[in-house]
Amino acid sequence: MIYQSTRNDGLTVSSAQAILDGMAGDGGLYSPASFSGISLDWRALLPISTRDMATRILAALLPSFSEAEMGELVRRAYEGKFETEDLTPTVRVGEDTVLELFRGPTSAFKDVALSMLPLLMTAAREKCGVSDEILILTATSGDTGKAAMEGFANVPGTRILVFYPYGGVSPVQQAQMVTQEGDNVGVCAVRGNFDDAQTGVKAIFAAVEREGLLAGKGVRLSSANSINIGRLAPQVVYYFKAYADLVREGRIAVGDLVDFVVPTGNFGDILAGYFAKELGLPVGKLICASNANNILTDFFATGVYDRNRPFYRTVSPSMDILVSSNLERLLFLLSGDAKLVKGLMASLAETGAYTVPAHLKAKLDELFFAGCCDDAGTKAAIGRVWREEGYLMDTHTAVAYHVAQQYKAACPSHGSVVILSTASPYKFPAAVLEALGQAPGADEYSAMAQIERITGVPLPKNLRGLKDRPARHGDVIEPEKMLSYVLDKAGKEIW
Ligand SMILES: *Cc1c(COP(=O)(O)O)cnc(C)c1O
Repeated sequence: MIYQSTRNDGLTVSSAQAILDGMAGDGGLYSPASFSGISLDWRALLPISTRDMATRILAALLPSFSEAEMGELVRRAYEGKFETEDLTPTVRVGEDTVLELFRGPTSAFKDVALSMLPLLMTAAREKCGVSDEILILTATSGDTGKAAMEGFANVPGTRILVFYPYGGVSPVQQAQMVTQEGDNVGVCAVRGNFDDAQTGVKAIFAAVEREGLLAGKGVRLSSANSINIGRLAPQVVYYFKAYADLVREGRIAVGDLVDFVVPTGNFGDILAGYFAKELGLPVGKLICASNANNILTDFFATGVYDRNRPFYRTVSPSMDILVSSNLERLLFLLSGDAKLVKGLMASLAETGAYTVPAHLKAKLDELFFAGCCDDAGTKAAIGRVWREEGYLMDTHTAVAYHVAQQYKAACPSHGSVVILSTASPYKFPAAVLEALGQAPGADEYSAMAQIERITGVPLPKNLRGLKDRPARHGDVIEPEKMLSYVLDKAGKEIW
């Protein structure tokens, strides 16, 4: 399978090159041209282990790698790193199923992909005959940064720089990042919101490409954000895993449609669900759950994507996003029209908005349902599900849970519903504690201890002792300084 830019049919690369580059040189994202060339027997995946599923699915999506090679990468990526051997367990909560994606080394769903990406990246580098050091640039709304650093720390031939919005991530997320160890990792706060950081990173890629700013320096840039296809592909696996669990438990028959509710920010996670559907998995609706930053809810309702609106800081900060990058891949895949996508993205850059044509809107309606939930609704869901079901959700999962109930009320003929749970409740302890009806603790760490005392849900190992780890990274810069910051770092032998 060949990858191409979402903005140019003529710009095509192998899957290895797409991973190595991170994004296309014309500002587009690398996407499969179509899924028609892939042969994958989805039924044969249901009885096998999660790791074997990952091997087959990833080898199908990224054909630069043989199945034998992929099997070895998968083994190295996941062995001993997750709390459970099946990586992403499912739990029954009331009549719904929760797919727990947060059992990895940093307690966020991004671990699933970011455990895999460094291995894909270094293997791709070898395949493409590249000897340059790879400098990973990543903008984070909180969870990607830590998970990416954890994945890339001390991986030979790579360095990673993470930018996060100053004051825009939770104290726990910030502590996780600034205490990161490893000689090849850097973390810097940006005075702005996530979109400023993400726009800054995209602009650096464009400037470096356009002006050859790193030419001859033995360094090349890549991305660990979900704009990198190597980050997206591993996320396809857990849709199959959840489906297999439902079959195994006798809750569905093979072939029944399952609806997936996805707490959405950059649209990567839910797009992976669309990939799973295209690979044959019987996916019913994909339900896009947003917080008060409900630009996607409006988009699915109207076909108009309009970022000219206030930006809210919510208790689900990993979804505080106004520009969902991966939507571009969906628009490309549904329309097959790179010219159209290029035009829409130009309109977004110039006016902050675009409108999709009616034929595309009709396809979106068929595939997706969208809903949103404010902070009050988020906390109410956490409290209710704890009281009634004895299950403790984080704030992002709670947004999805709330929207799942909206969806079921709106579509009474729905199938089995799987809610993707994207973080441990201990990553957002202040809001979770409040949702449990408790007075706030002195700080997030005492809130963690209090939640553990009240609920008995064990605190994940990686968050224990976080408070006492020394901060190693303290830089704070203006968004305009991001390019010079990167060029300065790229030129330094030792950070
Ligand atoms: C990143 C993240 C999301 C959003 O995922 P996207 O792929 O960006 O849509 C949701 N919840 C949590 C906890 C996250 O870290």
